[in-house]
Amino acid sequence: MNYEDFFAERINALQDEGNYRVFADLERKAGHFPRALNYHSDGTKEVTVWCSNDYLGMGQNEDVLAAMHEAIDKCGAGAGGTRNISGTNHYHVLLEEELAKLHQTEAALIFTSGYVANFTTLSTLGSKMPGMLIISDEQNHNSMIEGIRLGRSEKVVFKHNDLEDLERTLKEHPLDRPKMIAFESVYSMDGDIAPIKEICDLADKYNAMTYLDEVHAVGLYGEHGAGVAERDGIMDRLTIIQGTMAKGFGIVGGYIAGSKAMCDFVRSFGQGFIFSTSLPPSIAAGCRASIQYVSQHNDIRIRHQARAKYLRDKLDAAGIPHIHNPSHIIPVMVGDPVLCKQASDMLMEEYNHYVQPINYPTVPKGTERLRFTPSPFHTEKMMDELVDCLVKVWATLGLKKAAA
Ligand SMILES: *Cc1c(COP(=O)(O)O)cnc(C)c1O
Repeated sequence: MNYEDFFAERINALQDEGNYRVFADLERKAGHFPRALNYHSDGTKEVTVWCSNDYLGMGQNEDVLAAMHEAIDKCGAGAGGTRNISGTNHYHVLLEEELAKLHQTEAALIFTSGYVANFTTLSTLGSKMPGMLIISDEQNHNSMIEGIRLGRSEKVVFKHNDLEDLERTLKEHPLDRPKMIAFESVYSMDGDIAPIKEICDLADKYNAMTYLDEVHAVGLYGEHGAGVAERDGIMDRLTIIQGTMAKGFGIVGGYIAGSKAMCDFVRSFGQGFIFSTSLPPSIAAGCRASIQYVSQHNDIRIRHQARAKYLRDKLDAAGIPHIHNPSHIIPVMVGDPVLCKQASDMLMEEYNHYVQPINYPTVPKGTERLRFTPSPFHTEKMMDELVDCLVKVWATLGLKKAAA
């Protein structure tokens, strides 16, 4: 095999399909969220970012930055080891306490990312619990799918958010067989929300554990920002809640929350936890400050939802097609990879609005989209301008409008 030719051919095929990924080169401007500098072939320019998962702009919050500066001055840059070998800094301990408090659980365990939290926890439970069966929603995130695969336990996939299909699977297995239902609260690409209470009811009936990924909900839902399970008053019914500190909390790092024994089990057997250097102390300090801020400021969540509603209403009035869902995520549908990329390019190059095209394999072919996530810092004026630009792009490219 000619290795270089092989790589180049595969990349060419991606380009032909319109699925080749081009990263926008950005420099975020602290204090000016959601504005950023975009580096392009002939210089730089300022753009408005519409597709950040820093949903609340917490990556620039002053309390967060102060906590991080203080921890760097106190502890230096890195953690200095894995958690077991000199890398447990007091800030990690405080952060785990904060997360357990947020979710009202006995314990929490942090990982270097939400991906690692899912991958490690699911693979550990799948491989270390004899006879384990994992029942997984078909739209679960790649980090869950790969963790389940690595665990090599038996796995059954149920239809997305489909309680009947889930119950059919649960019924087929003995009550005393160890089993777990793995699912998400807010699904990131369609922005729909799982029937968490009903899934917990089925878990009780069939003696199953529950594993809930609240990555797109922590910070954003519930009186203290603990997620949709808090909003629905059912946090105590889940065996494991998994989350990230990279999205609503604006920094980086993942975690699970649950019982002391369960967290201790994953701490003791989880390879992605054991064999990797822990997060820098400054990150842990910033995450803790962010969680504290977000849990004490319900007003930021109210403003966040109001901005999403404003943009939705503007899109409806302009006939721009989008998925009507009950969350803060606004997927504007294009339905073609090449046109989706063109629409995104035009918005960036001509109008200084940045929204990344979302193509296969992140979403199924034929459902290519622009995914908007307005934050509390996106003003009504910004949204008015954006929708005007979308209307022009839709006309120029001849894209399909929503039925009136
Ligand atoms: C982003 C994401 C993750 C991974 O979280 P990171 O902290 O970014 O690694 C896990 N689950 C879902 C559903 C996600 O969208």
